[in-house]
Amino acid sequence: MRQSQLFTKTRKEGPKDEVSKNAELLIRAGFIQKEMAGVYDYLPLGLKVLKKIENIIRQEMSIVGGQEILMTTLQDPEIWQKSGRWDDKIVDNWFKTKLNSGAELGVANTHEEPITNMLLHFIKSYKDLPVYVYQFQTKFRNELRAKSGLMRGREFLMKDLYSFNKTEEDFRKFYESVAEAYMRIFEKVGLGDITFRTLAAGGSFSVGLTDEFQTISNAGEDVIYIDRAKKVAINKEVYNDENISKLGLNKSALEEVKSIEVGNIFPLGTKYSEVLSLTIKDDDGKSKPVVMGSYGIGLGRLMGTVVEVLSDESGIIWPKEIAPFAVHLVRLGVNEKTVSFAEELYSDLRKRGIDVLYDDRDLRPGEKFADSDLIGIPVRFVISDKTVAENKIEVKYRTSKDSELMSADEALKIL
Ligand code: ATP
Ligand code: MG
Repeated sequence: MRQSQLFTKTRKEGPKDEVSKNAELLIRAGFIQKEMAGVYDYLPLGLKVLKKIENIIRQEMSIVGGQEILMTTLQDPEIWQKSGRWDDKIVDNWFKTKLNSGAELGVANTHEEPITNMLLHFIKSYKDLPVYVYQFQTKFRNELRAKSGLMRGREFLMKDLYSFNKTEEDFRKFYESVAEAYMRIFEKVGLGDITFRTLAAGGSFSVGLTDEFQTISNAGEDVIYIDRAKKVAINKEVYNDENISKLGLNKSALEEVKSIEVGNIFPLGTKYSEVLSLTIKDDDGKSKPVVMGSYGIGLGRLMGTVVEVLSDESGIIWPKEIAPFAVHLVRLGVNEKTVSFAEELYSDLRKRGIDVLYDDRDLRPGEKFADSDLIGIPVRFVISDKTVAENKIEVKYRTSKDSELMSADEALKIL
């Protein structure tokens, strides 16, 4: 893509009312735009990152056997009344709306009840199990404080997976396979070293304890106790001797840190299947409720977390797997030879299927480099009168201060 045609522009300053670092950087670099507190648009650069995160998650969901669906945002209150979660005292962040007739509807904040109800049409016998379904779907939550940029939206994209098993034992096996998939996802997006599986309290709807995935960051709202060596943690809300010993941990090895909850997996037992009558006929002919689990990751929260923890004073530093482009080609100088060298390299990169942002604008070098640092593409190729004279490209990694002159062939190899 030619940067001269990108309709978004970088900005020196973010909106005055934006206090979070992730939103400030993402807005200044042109990845997102703020509509209002907790409500953001994804612009071309931001959408590319979001789609890359989505694809990494989709790949892992497919490995654990998930089938992708897309459920509706508008929800039938009757289903929620059965579980008791229609009540605003039980779920305090509902957005609700009304039909012209006055009848109430729910605006999706999660999907345990609707998915369970939907599967009544398809799950009848133990032979129909297991079923694992997931979606990338927009959730709406009337969050009290929406001051953390993409990390706490009132409207946000979530990957939610739901599992339906015949037995608790089958469920546990699947639950562990998802926990492993989650760690692979967080590794791929560049948060592996600082993300911990964390024992936590249940939500408004889970059964017993849950597992969160918490990324160490001072921008986080949670406090957890981590064992760095064993790579596990306990959330402050359930930090006690019983749970410490349950995880085989030693109090003296635990370190208190602030963290961001990037994912959460929940054992649901038969809580929903019982109230919504999702039962199967077992091999002995007896009817019994299906064993369920649910598993969430907020895509925007993940993107915001990456920006919080991987950025410096000049801007964002994207890990290559989710960077909007593989390389930022920056042309300096307007000399005819320089321009044609850059144009040829741009078209060569595109022919090779390499995703490239080409800064073909006639701006001062300082402005171009500042933009490039702010946008944060991992590798930069600079073409100038000087490099062209030597028939070379200046290659610089976003994470390094130094650059290196290379031939086009050598430069292509590092991509
Ligand atoms: P929190 O405690 O931070 O409010 P939660 O425990 O209510 O989150 P879950 O219901 O577990 O959230 O949602 C699953 C995942 O969705 C979370 O782990 C997080 O990644 C993401 N998520 C939840 N709320 C938001 C939000 N308001 N904005 C962006 N992502 C969110
Ligand atoms: Mg949670």
